[in-house]
Amino acid sequence: MRIILFGEPGAGKGTYAAELVKRYGIPQISTGDMLRAAVKEGTSVGHHAQEYMKRGELVPDATVIELVHDRIQRQDAAKGFILDGFPRTVPQADSLDKLLHKMHNELDAVLKIEISKETILTRLTGRRVCTNCGATYNVATMKPQKEGICDKCGHELIQRPDDKPETILNRLAVYQKDTAPLIDFYDKKGLLKRVQCEGPYAEALGRVFAALEKVAKV
Ligand code: AMP
Repeated sequence: MRIILFGEPGAGKGTYAAELVKRYGIPQISTGDMLRAAVKEGTSVGHHAQEYMKRGELVPDATVIELVHDRIQRQDAAKGFILDGFPRTVPQADSLDKLLHKMHNELDAVLKIEISKETILTRLTGRRVCTNCGATYNVATMKPQKEGICDKCGHELIQRPDDKPETILNRLAVYQKDTAPLIDFYDKKGLLKRVQCEGPYAEALGRVFAALEKVAKV
């Protein structure tokens, strides 16, 4: 199954993607995670990307497209994948279409996670991530047992540099300008499925699974 998880920053794409990895046994391909790993490792891609990321802007299409093209063609993605945070622009979506066509594959669904602005802001401003294992917490809604410390591995929790209030506003504006046009793009192709994800997590997850039930063919 080849799907895109689509939604504003803070909508919960990463969290739902992790659940879908367990359910369908296909990899999550998160461009945000790949770029953060490149920054941490100090690769040339990381150097190039980090200033854009700090400002909450999009990394240029060519860089991200190359990362995703390499990743999708790896063996573990042969049966499918969950794209999380890609595509974010029309040129990225076009490049994905062309690549899948070349590989004689196609997308099965684009899941749009729908959630209120208030929830998004609470999630992003309160999000804390583990510097070691990447586990995510929230100071308001999902506190660790000991403040500032990861329950899973005991390392320090930090706020992502791009989760500072001024950068968050920029990321949301960038989403509206560059990424929101993809809603129409995928709706016209008949691939878009809107999933209401406000409210209790277990119920929202149930709706995510239900939306994919009809397209699942792993
Ligand atoms: P995320 O973790 O998906 O919110 O991504 C964090 C940051 O990485 C974004 O604010 C962008 O700077 C960059 N990024 C991630 N995915 C993309 C993409 N598909 N295109 C351009 N920039 C991206």
